[in-house]
Amino acid sequence: MAIVNTCIIGGGASGMFAAILLARAGIETTILEKSEKTCKKVYITGKGRCNLTNDTLPQEVLNNVVNGSKFLRSAMYKFTPQDTMSFFEDLGVELVVERGNRVFPKSGKSASITDALRGEVKALKVNVEVDSEVTNISKNEDVFHIEYGKNKWLDARNVLICTGGMSYPLTGSTGDGYTFAKKFGHSIVTPVPALNSIVLKEDVKALEGISLKNVKLHAYTTKRVASEFGEMLFTDDGISGPIVLTISSLINRLDNVSLVLDLKPALDEEQLNARLLREFDIAKNSDIKNVMKELLPERLIHYVLKEAGIDPSKKVNNITKEERIRLYKTLKGLKFNVKKISSIESATVTSGGVETTEINPGTMESKLVNGLYFAGEVIDVDAFTGGFNLQIAFSTAYVAANAIIKNK
Ligand SMILES: Cc1cc2nc3c(=O)[nH]c(=O)nc-3n(C[C@H](O)[C@H](O)[C@H](O)COP(=O)(O)OP(=O)(O)OC[C@H]3O[C@@H](n4cnc5c(N)ncnc54)[C@H](O)[C@@H]3O)c2cc1C
Repeated sequence: MAIVNTCIIGGGASGMFAAILLARAGIETTILEKSEKTCKKVYITGKGRCNLTNDTLPQEVLNNVVNGSKFLRSAMYKFTPQDTMSFFEDLGVELVVERGNRVFPKSGKSASITDALRGEVKALKVNVEVDSEVTNISKNEDVFHIEYGKNKWLDARNVLICTGGMSYPLTGSTGDGYTFAKKFGHSIVTPVPALNSIVLKEDVKALEGISLKNVKLHAYTTKRVASEFGEMLFTDDGISGPIVLTISSLINRLDNVSLVLDLKPALDEEQLNARLLREFDIAKNSDIKNVMKELLPERLIHYVLKEAGIDPSKKVNNITKEERIRLYKTLKGLKFNVKKISSIESATVTSGGVETTEINPGTMESKLVNGLYFAGEVIDVDAFTGGFNLQIAFSTAYVAANAIIKNK
């Protein structure tokens, strides 16, 4: 069998994009994809709408990278969010920019993106083999030997590992790339879930479904490690929602994390005390639980009053000064303890992966093995929500593809 120039392992965001660039440069490329079709994860991104990038400056993308921003710097300037937008627009996909500069296909359907990638790969006659799980890669002199499917194999001059992370394994990303990288001597930063809900030690079942806006969540170890303002909600065993996802990415490599929820961040303690006094004055003979309806969603009232050690049926004019102080301190700092981040299978992205110091950031080539390249989530890089993770997949794939083209 002839030797192909490049074998791409994984037909996801980075693999499909790299294949297009290589094929356009006339490089003979084969994609080996484990699933029955390519782009399964891209299809479910952005709640089925695919937030493909963020229409912002490369530096702003890097500011939203949690791990690996230094490593990604060169790639992000070489292939910017605007380059991603032009790439898809040139393929005929109309785009819209929404709140927070998030870019989506105008159709509101991720299929516009997956169809564009699949269509171009097909038009360029890239050899795509689906149902082709790679099981082993070895290298003999200058040639990689790739074993896949049922006793199939192929030889290639270059291998580009685009196998993604470990989250949502039904999409095909099951962490195989880490095994291949390890085999070639690479170190793997232990994969942990990122952008996921948080399981709490406290029983919050009674709060399930309560959603909060304009709250501030702080995370602490021995010092404050993260603070986020915005929306969150309670689940059956913890918390979720935008600010929780962000916090999860900042604490997923830490132990013994406690959380402090400020339910009234717009008011300082003094202002909140004044507000309570005002509410108490208006309804002197009411139960405290009823007065609190002015300040909190109903189902949260009992939880907060219990934490503050106040009987919900106590009349407001019997509330002592100490109780009022405890109440505003609880409203400003409801305490929880993190049991864990929810499982990696349900995480939006995987934090961890191939150690970035062992990859050349200007080419995405392994520093240990010539001709071995990495792109996308398999590398120890991850970012917040907003289209940044797909942008990382595209930028790293761009750099890898161009390095392969140059070395042709
Ligand atoms: C629910 C959800 C929503 C998301 N929404 C967004 C969003 O809106 N915006 C955003 O920027 N990011 C989003 N992400 C993250 C984003 O999808 C990923 O970061 C991105 O897809 C990573 O691209 P990749 O090419 O590295 O890996 P993937 O796209 O995961 O592709 C990896 C491919 O490799 C294949 N593969 C794995 N092992 C093998 C093997 N042994 N042999 C052959 N093939 C193999 C897999 O089947 C898969 O097709 C979301 C993720 C999830 C789970």
